[in-house]
Amino acid sequence: MSFSGRFPLLLKKEPAMSSKNRPLVVGNWKMNGSRAALGELVAMGKGFDGALRSKIDLVLCPPMTHVALAAQAAVGTGISIGAQNCHAKVSGAHTGDVSAEMLADIGATAVMVGHSERRTDYKEKDADVRAKAEAAQRAGLMAVLCLGETKAEREAGKALSVVRRQLKDSVPANMPAHQLVIGYEPVWAIGTGLVPTAKDVEEVHALIRGDLKRLLGKEEGSKVRILYGGSVKPSNAAELLAVDNVDGLLVGGASLKAEDFLTIAGFYR
Ligand code: PEP
Repeated sequence: MSFSGRFPLLLKKEPAMSSKNRPLVVGNWKMNGSRAALGELVAMGKGFDGALRSKIDLVLCPPMTHVALAAQAAVGTGISIGAQNCHAKVSGAHTGDVSAEMLADIGATAVMVGHSERRTDYKEKDADVRAKAEAAQRAGLMAVLCLGETKAEREAGKALSVVRRQLKDSVPANMPAHQLVIGYEPVWAIGTGLVPTAKDVEEVHALIRGDLKRLLGKEEGSKVRILYGGSVKPSNAAELLAVDNVDGLLVGGASLKAEDFLTIAGFYR
């Protein structure tokens, strides 16, 4: 494994050839943004032209307060809006929480579950993530299920076993492929500028693909899109997209600006 800010193994393949699944690029605004920042979404919509729309899906996940506004602003742009979290239950005495059904009600079509920042900040476990993924399925949303090893786990040689455990314990058994996306996000790569080698990404994604086929059946498992996430930038996106079994990207910081986000998505042109 190499902790490199650069991408050492340049692959020669065309990005669009690395997967037969329809590519997906997801933007995660985290706790950033404002009403004014929705102007970036409008700019993204303008840049997401017919040619690109015919090739990829684009999802943007703003903070909870802006999901409804973003869903309205995204009408007609081809961009789908997701949330960054949901509660597992439909409704009830859960102050401050929002259900998957409520997200669907305000125009969201996707929800992220299991992001490492929620696993850390709220001590979310695989079973919680699984319950949220089930909630997404129940509400008709697409679950973007995030997993990935910490730096300590990678250094201890446990990256693959950690990812396999997270996958096994958090993916609902009967999840249909069109409602499930896996975001492989090594925790040490998120917001750090560090990116794994193409070989490491390829190894983990191949492992995830094999396990998805075992968990969901060969056909469904091969259709689930597996995204790479962690310090994706316009400067490294093309190399990441070229890796086998990388069906797209999960983009944090670089999704805040329309220009960067569109540059990343634009590698699929
Ligand atoms: C993320 O938060 O999901 C993420 C990938 O962040 P960044 O791209 O900023 O590393």
